[in-house]
This record gives sequence, C-alpha cells and structure tokens, in this order.
Amino acid sequence: MSPRDDMHSHGPKSPRPARPVKGGARRSRFPDAPENIRRLKVDARGFPIPYFVAMVNGKPDHRVVDPRKVQPALAGGLCWICGEPMGGDSAFVMGPTSAFTRVTSEPASHWACGCFAAQACPFLTQPRMRRNHKGLEGVTLTAPGNMLPQNGGLAVVWATSTFTQAPNSEGKTTFSLGQPTQVAWFREGRPASREEVVAFMRTTVGRFRTLVEQGGPPAAKRLAEYRERALALAPKS
Ligand SMILES: [Zn+2]
Repeated sequence: MSPRDDMHSHGPKSPRPARPVKGGARRSRFPDAPENIRRLKVDARGFPIPYFVAMVNGKPDHRVVDPRKVQPALAGGLCWICGEPMGGDSAFVMGPTSAFTRVTSEPASHWACGCFAAQACPFLTQPRMRRNHKGLEGVTLTAPGNMLPQNGGLAVVWATSTFTQAPNSEGKTTFSLGQPTQVAWFREGRPASREEVVAFMRTTVGRFRTLVEQGGPPAAKRLAEYRERALALAPKS
C-alpha cells in the first residue's frame, strides 16, 4: 500500500466540512485530505491551519512554528499537525538530512497527517519557494520541517515506536529517532524514487566527510554505518 493510499484509507467517508475562519476561504483546497486535516480551520487561501502554526498579528502564519506549542503537544500526546490525540506509532515529518542523522526537532504527527503535510505543504514540496519574512520583524523564526535549500525538495515521514527527547546545545528540544516501522519519501509533493534518495545520501555523506576526517577512523566507521542504514531505508524503486 502506498502512503498516498494509506492516508486516505481510514476515517468516515463524510467528515464535517472544514470550518472557515472569519473573513477566510469558505472551502479547503484539499477536499480529499485525511479526516483530521479536514477538521482543521482553513485560512483565506484555503490552506488548513496546522496545530503548530504561529499566530502573527492575529493571523495564522504558516511560515512560522509556534515554539509554545511544543510542550503542550508532548505533554498531551497531541499530533503536531492536527492537534488531536496520537495513537500507535509516532510519525516525524522532516528533511532528508534528519533521516541520515536520525535527529529532528519537531514533535510527531499521525502517519496520515504527516504524509499529507509532506505532499501538500508548499515549504516541503517546493525547494525554491522563498520564505518571505515580510511582516515578521522581531519574530523568532523556526521554519516548519527544518527544511534547508540543500534538501532538494525531499521530505521524509518516519514512523517509529522508539524515540527519546533531549535539549540540544542551544537548549532546544530535539528527538533522537529509533528504527522506523514505516518510512515514506516524497519529492516536490509526490513519492520520491530510489534514485533521488540515493543521490541525496551520496551528497550528504560528502558533506559530512570533512568533519569526519578530523575525527579519525572511529568517525569514518560511524559515517559508513549511517550511510548503510540510510540506504537500507531508501525506496525500493
Ligand atoms: Zn494528526
């Protein structure tokens, strides 16, 4: 079953329609989204407003993660995207470098919500899309999905039953992920090919090589292990 099939496969067939925000769009752009997503309010453009989105000047701003949402999501076991209680494995939506290092900084989502975001969020699907910071002067920006230009439009949804959280050197919460029970790769909104993922991993190993040269043989061995475990999870075709 493909992730796309899976994300549409559960939930009742006639959900409540998305609730428009005041002055906003009347209809979601994504009528076929998973049920939980269809329950979210939509903004003036018809985009669902995820749980993590910050309010800036009284309006939801998809460019910004609200850091105050992290602790309530973790304490309440809530989906980072739809805000409803989790159940089963935790699915982390992240850039492909996080699939290499197995460290990410955003809480987990439902599998279906994560696969939807990886295919529908413009920041995750359009590598050249510029984050317009107009009007955000004075706001601490944390971009959704930790997406970086060198990610080449790849996004990963990583489901696992094992992860630990700890602050990084800057005091920000990070998650170390265990072996996945399910992984889905996307590129620019559609399933990524094996070739695309393998090419990315090759480039990533190259980027880490300089650091590794300073660390000697143990670091080189570790880099090789990271490479092997990442390639083992690449799409089969
Ligand atoms: Zn959800």
